[in-house]
Amino acid sequence: MTAKQIAIIGGGPAGLMAAEVLSSSGHAVTVYDGMPTFGRKFLLAGKSGLNITHSEDYQRFATRFGAASDRLRTALDAFTPADVQAWASSLGTETFTGTSGRVFPTVMKASPLLRAWLKRLEAQGVKLMTRHRWTGFADDGLTFDTPNGLTTLHSDATLLALGGASWPRLGADGGWVPLLRDKGVGIADLQPANCGFDVDWSDVFKDRFAGAPLKSVATTSDAGTFPGEFVISRHGIEGSLVYAHSAALRDRLARQGTATLIVDLAPGRNAERLMKDLSRQDGKVSFSNRLRKGAGLEGVKAALVRELGSQAALNDPAQLALLIKALPIPVTRPRPIAEAISSAGGIRFDAVDERYMLKALPGVFAAGEMLDWEAPTGGYLLTACFATGRAAAAGINQWLKSQV
Ligand SMILES: Cc1cc2nc3c(=O)[nH]c(=O)nc-3n(C[C@H](O)[C@H](O)[C@H](O)COP(=O)(O)OP(=O)(O)OC[C@H]3O[C@@H](n4cnc5c(N)ncnc54)[C@H](O)[C@@H]3O)c2cc1C
Repeated sequence: MTAKQIAIIGGGPAGLMAAEVLSSSGHAVTVYDGMPTFGRKFLLAGKSGLNITHSEDYQRFATRFGAASDRLRTALDAFTPADVQAWASSLGTETFTGTSGRVFPTVMKASPLLRAWLKRLEAQGVKLMTRHRWTGFADDGLTFDTPNGLTTLHSDATLLALGGASWPRLGADGGWVPLLRDKGVGIADLQPANCGFDVDWSDVFKDRFAGAPLKSVATTSDAGTFPGEFVISRHGIEGSLVYAHSAALRDRLARQGTATLIVDLAPGRNAERLMKDLSRQDGKVSFSNRLRKGAGLEGVKAALVRELGSQAALNDPAQLALLIKALPIPVTRPRPIAEAISSAGGIRFDAVDERYMLKALPGVFAAGEMLDWEAPTGGYLLTACFATGRAAAAGINQWLKSQV
């Protein structure tokens, strides 16, 4: 096939991965990004210990993408977690598996990997254009806002890899949603994923405990029961254990208007034992002392029981034991998408074909977080962005061949 002009808009993990595949196929690839540098969210992800993929059994791994798991399967099969590690290694970044099964670069950050990646792409002939903000379609071309004013560019095929809408100051702000909706592309509203939640704490509780971690607890929602820790914030609750429940809590809030995260504050003891230990406490000593001696709870855990328990429950050992084992935290709404780790929603899978081409816009493809899938934290997000970037690139190759 003769070399074609390919425009990739969005220089995050999905767009750069597609650029790698398409330039290897001999095409003239240009990656455009609205920001002054590429991969800003990838770099930020690296600030908190880049979690590049996950080592769990692949059959389980492939189910982590909720309703989109089946649809993503072909892309994931073609670029598995083992492939992600081999790819990082080919760029000089070795990885290791943490005790949780999460896979990290040994240097724990993204910058050396991104630097080596951009260098390799340029060596393969990829043109990297920053400060080119895509603004839509006109005259059969793509329009960009650039430092030299508005410009229209033409390509033989285009990949959109514009990300979701979390952390908008890093470049991905969901500004593409109305541009594609106008063209008849089906898009599910972008929503916060892997996010914190608001809780109506009393002023006394939040003034005293905002920032306090709740360690060694178990939490339950429609998503299941998971052990770990989370943090009390001024607004409510946040941290990786809350993120694990965020899709379930968000969806229940949308369905029913209310949702609760159930917290077991003493996972090592059963309710019966707790009740006996609490019953043995002298009713004349303070509640805090009874809770500390009878249940081993103090600090933020004790304050949380006091904050959420009714007076009757606090005074009755049997009710108190049950409360400690299953304390319901009522959440009122997810934190705004700008604060979330990732986005749910995006271009619906029925709006793209098997090649990741938009059915409403032949020759225009999409990949990465702008597609309608979500996954927990743990390396699943980046793996699916890499995998869909590669799958869309393969789709572009296929489509270009079918055009000759
Ligand atoms: C704090 C934080 C920590 C994270 N940690 C992890 C982790 O450890 N592991 C993991 O798997 N995932 C992690 N993620 C998620 C992961 O970073 C994202 O899922 C991933 O970067 C999405 O890749 P993408 O290529 O689809 O989009 P993005 O990385 O968002 O890239 C999209 C690009 O498109 C550009 N763009 C957007 N609109 C336009 C436009 N109109 N014109 C031109 N350019 C445009 C943006 O500037 C951006 O460079 C984390 C996210 C955050 C916020």
